[in-house]
Amino acid sequence: MLTADFIKQKAREFGADAVGIGDISNFYGAPQQRDPRQILPDATCVIGCAFRIPRELYRVMHNQKQFYNYTMLGPKYIDEDFAEIFLLKMAGIIEDEGYDACVQRNIVNLRIQGDHSTNPEITDTYELKYAEAIAPDKPVPDVILDFGMAARACGLGAPGMSGHILVPKFGPFVRFVFIVTDAPLACDPPFTGSLCDRCGKCQGACPGHAISERGEDTWQCAVYYRGAARSNPFMTDDFLKDNPERDAILDGKKRFDRESARAIYPKLDFLPSRPTGYVPCLCGRACDNACFEHLKEAGRL
Ligand code: SF4
Ligand code: SF4
Repeated sequence: MLTADFIKQKAREFGADAVGIGDISNFYGAPQQRDPRQILPDATCVIGCAFRIPRELYRVMHNQKQFYNYTMLGPKYIDEDFAEIFLLKMAGIIEDEGYDACVQRNIVNLRIQGDHSTNPEITDTYELKYAEAIAPDKPVPDVILDFGMAARACGLGAPGMSGHILVPKFGPFVRFVFIVTDAPLACDPPFTGSLCDRCGKCQGACPGHAISERGEDTWQCAVYYRGAARSNPFMTDDFLKDNPERDAILDGKKRFDRESARAIYPKLDFLPSRPTGYVPCLCGRACDNACFEHLKEAGRL
């Protein structure tokens, strides 16, 4: 018989650093386009797994010694390679016991209709604005889980002020996958509250002033993630030299929206991203480094 303990044991064996199982009732009230029951109508629960990104990959970016390993091993490798193998193995175990497993990786380059945010980690995102529902009571495709909501439902963690999901022991240094299933597994309590105490350290650390009380402005982030700030060690004297807003841009004072961010992307070509589509993180994830240090000092990890 398939049990929660067995699922957690296998998930850890296959490489998960944290596992939680959330009852499907935790998703009641979710928008249709985010609702796991729209993916699997008989779903009983969602299995959530977190994978750590080694702390050193953040520290060497913070110390401006290496940027590429974080991008390639963290966002790119975990989401594009490791997560797939992990999910397919887990799905096999669940299917062999006679249940369904709808595996959910991080959909990095798509945004549901009406979601105008972007993903700073990749070259660009596409909003599914032309999709149509097949019937009035059906969701507009694609249904894409809200990972923050799912992490909370599975008892793994919750988003902080930065918008990044904070997990006990690992803080923001994690990636996630989920499995929607009809297996009758014992569930964990949802994560209540947050590790975030709204200290503002992430906000103060961001060279592009992309974080505010309202959360992260993803277009602003995308510009400074790519290295528009003076603190980028690959910055050259002739970068934007004829642009009257150069100083405001380098100081993180100019505000970018979807159009102006996309317009400046071609200039932010400090390290190659074309082979994979994943953008090197030239802000060094200053927000997450500051958050991790704060949570550690405060004894909240
Ligand atoms: S740095 Fe502080 S405010 Fe920002 S997410 Fe972390 S705990 Fe929350
Ligand atoms: S520090 Fe970097 S990743 Fe964090 S919000 Fe600012 S630009 Fe984005």
